[in-house]
Amino acid sequence: MTETYDIAIIGGGPVGMFAAFYASLRDCKVALIEALPDLGGQPLALYPEKKVYDVPGLAGLTSREMVVKLKEQLDLFDVDIYRDSTVTDLVTHGSDFDLTINGSQQIAAHSVVLATGKGSFQPRKIQLSNHEELLNNGLAYFASHPQDVTGKTVAVVGGGDSAVDTALLLNEYAAKTYLVHRRDKFRAMEQSVKALQQSSVDVQTPRKVAAITQAGDHLDLTLEAVTGGDAQTLPVDLVVVQYGFIAQDKNMRNWDVQFDRQPDGLVVARNQATNQAGIFAIGDVVANLDRTDLIAVGLGQAPVAVNAAVHYFDPDRGGPGHSSDLNLT
Ligand SMILES: Cc1cc2nc3c(=O)[nH]c(=O)nc-3n(C[C@H](O)[C@H](O)[C@H](O)COP(=O)(O)OP(=O)(O)OC[C@H]3O[C@@H](n4cnc5c(N)ncnc54)[C@H](O)[C@@H]3O)c2cc1C
Repeated sequence: MTETYDIAIIGGGPVGMFAAFYASLRDCKVALIEALPDLGGQPLALYPEKKVYDVPGLAGLTSREMVVKLKEQLDLFDVDIYRDSTVTDLVTHGSDFDLTINGSQQIAAHSVVLATGKGSFQPRKIQLSNHEELLNNGLAYFASHPQDVTGKTVAVVGGGDSAVDTALLLNEYAAKTYLVHRRDKFRAMEQSVKALQQSSVDVQTPRKVAAITQAGDHLDLTLEAVTGGDAQTLPVDLVVVQYGFIAQDKNMRNWDVQFDRQPDGLVVARNQATNQAGIFAIGDVVANLDRTDLIAVGLGQAPVAVNAAVHYFDPDRGGPGHSSDLNLT
């Protein structure tokens, strides 16, 4: 039987996470649907080790720590979280909505909140003929559980902030960490590069990945100089590719429902309503002429959208009240 929710929130970035919490606070049955394996959106995917200062009450935490706090808040309620789940279609069904996840799974909802940011993230792939065979068999694009590499040999490939930060993070647990980059210079924050230079990470530059092959209980990572020749094979347990992410909203553009948009996002009313009755939008997905794509802005939009969504499917429900009237612990 298809599960029916009061509110389906599409996108598990910081704004979708808070919206899911707030919708639960309003006693809604909530689905939170995220394309990536982990909740956290851009902060976790793009800049996990950077400190964020302009989120109320969480100033100075790294993005990763901020996401942990948002998750703790979300965990006060029993929200159905769909991970690794891309909404591939959204169709109106009377006043309700049918959502298709990953092309097959169906759920239904009385209202929808779009918190899809700049689109669903896909990691930029490394080009290898045996890519599919290696994926999740020693080749990964995420280092969500750094403690899993304890005592292992890992190689991080890439030259941006996320590559440097990931190498430094994994190096806290791994027995040996390589960082492979095709240029001598890293495109990372100076502070991170300094930390890298002072760390025990074995920096392999300017070198590129020529091949990765299974070799019994480990992988053989073959590197060669960018100019060709000079190949070297390193035995490693895990290769984490950090070539960045591509955000694409083409999923949404292929949905049955279509939205009024401007070049930088969806057009919404003061209550965050899109042109489609019962569908609301918050966070970076919203057209933003003021160029204020900020977490705090989306967090403010979340209760507005949720309250409007509740009014859409249950106009007689009162509220919203104050959370300080509740006792959640
Ligand atoms: C390098 C960098 C530094 C930044 N620093 C700051 C800062 O210091 N302070 C600040 O306030 N802001 C900062 N920002 C901006 C901030 O990250 C964004 O404003 C914020 O992430 C927006 O949150 P969101 O939840 O709307 O969207 P996102 O964080 O983009 O999350 C959207 C989520 O929706 C998912 N999704 C999309 N489509 C689908 C689909 N069809 N099905 C399922 N899931 C889907 C995506 O996978 C993603 O996880 C920074 C951004 C960058 C790139």
